[in-house]
Amino acid sequence: MIDSVKKLELLAPVGDFERLVTAIHFGADAVYFGGKHFGLRAFAHNFDLEEIKQAVTYAHAHNVKVYITVNIIAHNPDFVGLLDYLKYLDEIKVDGVIVSDLGVANLVSNHTKLELHVSTQANITNSEAAKVWVKFGAKRLVLARELTISEIKDIKQAVGEDIEIECFCHGAMCISYSGRCLLSNYFTGRDSNKGACAQACRWSYTLHSNFDQKPVEGYFPIEEDGRGTYILNSKDMCLINHIEQLVEAGVTSFKIEGRMKTPYYVATTVNAYRRAIDNYLTNKEPTFNYVEELEKTSHRLFTTGFYFNDEFKTNPNEAAPIQSHDFIAVVLEDSQDGYTYIEMRNKFKLNDVLEILSPSELFNNLFVVKEIVNEERQNLEMVNKAQQRVYIKTDKILLKKYDILRRKRSDHHDSQEQ
Ligand code: SF4
Repeated sequence: MIDSVKKLELLAPVGDFERLVTAIHFGADAVYFGGKHFGLRAFAHNFDLEEIKQAVTYAHAHNVKVYITVNIIAHNPDFVGLLDYLKYLDEIKVDGVIVSDLGVANLVSNHTKLELHVSTQANITNSEAAKVWVKFGAKRLVLARELTISEIKDIKQAVGEDIEIECFCHGAMCISYSGRCLLSNYFTGRDSNKGACAQACRWSYTLHSNFDQKPVEGYFPIEEDGRGTYILNSKDMCLINHIEQLVEAGVTSFKIEGRMKTPYYVATTVNAYRRAIDNYLTNKEPTFNYVEELEKTSHRLFTTGFYFNDEFKTNPNEAAPIQSHDFIAVVLEDSQDGYTYIEMRNKFKLNDVLEILSPSELFNNLFVVKEIVNEERQNLEMVNKAQQRVYIKTDKILLKKYDILRRKRSDHHDSQEQ
């Protein structure tokens, strides 16, 4: 194992405070999110100035770093208020800002002490570009998702030991070059480069010919159902079985995509990658199937993307995310006297078999709901009111605050998680 493993970091996406707390509970070393302005993901809750400060205080109290996305592709009007914002982030001791625009990077380098991280949106695909960013003050490079493992290794060697390499290891991918895409802008007027993407690449498309000529053999084969074909629909990235190769290429920060995903997604992915990284660090063989674990939350078919040049990076048949389990409840307090106080996210009833998702429990730990009691101490058969708070009998199982309960679906393709 090489020295850099000592500095490995699991970096989680958090769209709001609930996700922040969840990511930290399940073992993230660092989190990233955006403020109300200047970061992509316009439809995530994002954090206002006071919330950013609270998030930094909470994260630092748990020894977790905070990186703020300031990665819009900026036009001149976007600079109004930007310098004040950057100075504020500096003052409250944010650990780094993720930037894609040279002008924004210039403000960071010349007017603040903030650590400069270069966003994947900057499309670093070669050593020369990487070295220019380093000259510009970058401490960390989030490389383009279109690189192979050996290209990452070459870039790491070119920039040297002091520069950190961060790579996406899990989550949705864009069909365009690391997010530089105008499909959404053209079709809906929503600017994907300002975080407002309508995910137009996930829509079904039909090819239409206006010519009488016969199709030319060797062109892209299209098969379609009644809805069309999802020719632009990328699979999701999943590198959980390739931690070692990424570390050997020089990656020290493992980034999970998904600032707009649910707390359940954050919990499941962070928990799985935490264990995979820890297993790697302690030279232990994995004792369970991580991919099966990741399939329990929202995902599309998995690919290793460009890292190993997976031949099949898109799924033309289906665009909707799937998941094998539903988020049932979050634990509000540590278990006491055989009962656990929880808040529901999906309805459940007596005799349902629930599974525990907890950083201190083994995977696939099941129990049967034998008793449900409401806050007025009345017994219930079912919990079906949104965010209802109840006690359930958990006997000797000791759950911790922020643990999660989930339930296997009978049909993997039905409703979205809440
Ligand atoms: S439309 Fe698709 S490819 Fe384009 S930015 Fe949005 S998610 Fe990425």
